Amino acid sequence: MDGNFSSNDISAVVDADRKHVWHHLIQHKPFETGEPRIIVEGKGMLVWDQNGKEHLDAVSGGVWTVNVGYGRESIADVVRDQLAKLNYFAGSAGSIPGALFAEKLLSKMPGMTRCYYANSGSEANEKAFKLVRQIAAKRYGGKKHKILYRDRDYHGTTITALSATGQDERAAQYGPFTPGFVRVPHCLEYRKHEQDGAPAENYGEWAANQIEEVILREGPETVGALCLEPITAGGGVITPPDGYWERVQEICTKYDILLHIDEVVCGVGRTGTWFGYQHYGIKPDMVTMAKGVASGYAAISCLVTTEEVFDMFKDDPSDPMSYFRDISTFGGCTAGPAAALENMRIIEDENLLENTTAMGEYMLDNLHALADKHPIIGQVRGKGLFLGCELVADRTTREPANEKIAQAIVGDCMQQGVIIGATNRSLPGKNNTLCFSPALIATKDDIDNITNAVDAAITRATA
Ligand code: PMP
Repeated sequence: MDGNFSSNDISAVVDADRKHVWHHLIQHKPFETGEPRIIVEGKGMLVWDQNGKEHLDAVSGGVWTVNVGYGRESIADVVRDQLAKLNYFAGSAGSIPGALFAEKLLSKMPGMTRCYYANSGSEANEKAFKLVRQIAAKRYGGKKHKILYRDRDYHGTTITALSATGQDERAAQYGPFTPGFVRVPHCLEYRKHEQDGAPAENYGEWAANQIEEVILREGPETVGALCLEPITAGGGVITPPDGYWERVQEICTKYDILLHIDEVVCGVGRTGTWFGYQHYGIKPDMVTMAKGVASGYAAISCLVTTEEVFDMFKDDPSDPMSYFRDISTFGGCTAGPAAALENMRIIEDENLLENTTAMGEYMLDNLHALADKHPIIGQVRGKGLFLGCELVADRTTREPANEKIAQAIVGDCMQQGVIIGATNRSLPGKNNTLCFSPALIATKDDIDNITNAVDAAITRATA
């Protein structure tokens, strides 16, 4: 680490953090005596904390974000130059990086033509929900206003995005929620024994048909959109079963329902294609993305739509209510698209999609070898460098493992200098899918280092 901190400075930083910063997603009581962790520097796949300890980051900044790795001077340079030239202008004006990034992004998304800028995944999703509500008001007298979301999916932290969360433990304390959001069943084949009526064969088609049942129950004339993650992230790295997406697409077409794909995690290379939905031949009407768009070098999210959706908001210029009456103050900050454009250049020039596919397969093999050795691993899932291992107490009954074991494994890896994650199950208090999402630059050595640490940690946690 070559950070500029002396040990005196850093203890003042730790003190300031302990006294004044309210960290995300954490119970603070232990910080009254223990030290909060502060990450001081990063390079490639590595980060260093306040004590100079080196960590191999297997979760790209904690939450699937730093796709091109840390310490990218070229992104810092591009952003610096852009900020010095023009940092910001919002409202109805465009910007040079905004236009160029939209063009580049959409060149990777056949069928999609428009990009709307915002700052976070939640915000992009909220904007998509607003589009659906406005289309319902304009075209269907307000009737087609309901938005379907899936058990175990997650779409963000605001109250309306939480109204669309399929992870009860994340939402439970924050109601009352926004009306008009309706849940459809999950499609995790490994847990189909928990779903009434799930068949032994053709599970994918059956799981998609459950969506149709909800539509028929609610009344197709009331349903405006279906919002799904292409591969569910926080709900347990759930890859959809065969036949699922084909049927989902048919159902959306049949009932004139907009298909909104939430690519906040999968977007921009994470699964080895530019977008997760591109593995499945899906034709979305709206796509939202955030984390990997600029790999965390700037805050940017995008809502992308087809021209057909866009056209609905410009078809009647005489009506002052007909356009999208929405703004995002920091959607006008040029650092986001400038960083995002350079991020895409890096992915292309360094062949990171190809690397992600190859290293993802290599890591899957390693994880399957761990599953052969450790009965606590019930199933290995995922695509590209977006992988998970569901932990079970019993392989035959598939009873979930106690979340304390997952936490012990995560903690043990941290001690070994490897940062991994554990995602939530829908059941309160269950953290039982280990989660891996190293940067797209990962090498075989990095992957071996990650899986060796997990191997040792599982051995100790289950001894
Ligand atoms: N959608 C998905 C699939 C996510 O995983 C997340 C965040 N983990 C969000 C939306 C919300 O993104 P943000 O935290 O940037 O608001």
